[in-house]
Amino acid sequence: MGIVVQKYGGSSVADVDRLRAIARRVVASVEGGDHPVVVVSAMGKTTDELLGLARRISERPGRRELDMLVSVGERISMALLAMAIHDAGHRAISFTGSQSGIITDDRHFDARIVEVRPARILEALGRGDVVIVAGYQGVSRSREVTTLGRGGSDTTAVALAAALEADHCEICSDVDGVWTADPRLVPEARRIDHLSHGEVLELAHGGAKVLAATAMEYARRSGIAVWARSTFAPGPGTRVDAMPSDRGLGGAVAVAGEPSVPVVRCPGGSGAWRRLLAALDRAGLSWRHARAVDDGLEVWLDPRSHPDAAGEASRVAGAYGGGAVSLGGLGTVTVVGADAAASPSVAAGLLATVEGAGVAPRGLASTPFGVACLLDGQAVPTLIRALHRTFVEPHGRVGEGAPGVAGPGGGR
Ligand code: ADP
Ligand code: ASP
Ligand code: MG
Repeated sequence: MGIVVQKYGGSSVADVDRLRAIARRVVASVEGGDHPVVVVSAMGKTTDELLGLARRISERPGRRELDMLVSVGERISMALLAMAIHDAGHRAISFTGSQSGIITDDRHFDARIVEVRPARILEALGRGDVVIVAGYQGVSRSREVTTLGRGGSDTTAVALAAALEADHCEICSDVDGVWTADPRLVPEARRIDHLSHGEVLELAHGGAKVLAATAMEYARRSGIAVWARSTFAPGPGTRVDAMPSDRGLGGAVAVAGEPSVPVVRCPGGSGAWRRLLAALDRAGLSWRHARAVDDGLEVWLDPRSHPDAAGEASRVAGAYGGGAVSLGGLGTVTVVGADAAASPSVAAGLLATVEGAGVAPRGLASTPFGVACLLDGQAVPTLIRALHRTFVEPHGRVGEGAPGVAGPGGGR
């Protein structure tokens, strides 16, 4: 069976007209002989609005109830799209994450998929139904509704593509692929034809939300090729797979920025470091980097690992006492490329660009596929543009015609 997984993001399903247009796209894919499994996000800004509602009712809403609340967003889209496909003359059935067999651990708000049991999806496909799945949600072994972290519908799509051995996995959005920087911020940015999972993972960790980090981790582990494409515009998109890129761009292929990175510092030796890390863990915060500073430890936290990461970081520092502080107003910029991590010259160029823009670097970290700099969060958009000028623009067109890159449908 030629199963294809197509995921449509929030802006693609933002209103009724767009849902109808997607229904027509899906029907065309069925008429072309495909068996589509369609993963949908919540409509437009629904998830942000639901989180805003939670904050209006409670200062520190619990993660379990947040999951009960935000998982509603994707259920709305799935049911409406199934109705639109019926009206377009095809059989369709919608499933929640739980009905789709997306089994997760029990970490609410950013749960990990531990298993996929797509029995009901396969049954429905066997009957000739188009299957619509609510992205971003699963169920834990103790039958609790969980969500997969912001942007997690991408992860649903990749996990289903792996479990169903799909011909290909398309992530459709308002942008026609992965670009050398956020095209909303950098007019000179260009679409990249081909990237490795690791490079896109680094971009996602660095703050580019075009593909979710957990989706890239899953794709890398299961060897799935992902196509990032535009929902409504034609075009080849970006292929993301296991092949390393070899563009010879002085080690850099793209830049990303994250304007808000909570940072916690504590004085003391490794005993104090352990206590701080344990306290961060208990608070449900994940970290991206830690480094020794002066006589203590500085931890850069993952802003997406908690519904209020900055607030929780300062609560942890306050409760820890003993001179621990949380630093606000900081962000990171990241230069990404397979060789960028190992290249001191990329790091030196990054520092020179930051200083040239009149901004003080507050820390530097080598990451698996790049190099990141901690600095004033407000300077992040300006620095993304400056780093793009330094690292990407001098090298002309990126990745065009990379050898061995097949078109969509070229398989995993
Ligand atoms: P969806 O709702 O479809 O999941 P997202 O909003 O999560 O879409 O991601 C798409 C957005 O990611 C684009 O509108 C773009 O502004 C932003 N973006 C940030 N960095 C990049 C990049 N390097 N390439 C493409 N898009 C990027
Ligand atoms: N609706 C969820 C979010 O806004 C998941 C997603 O869009 O992928 O994060
Ligand atoms: Mg997204």
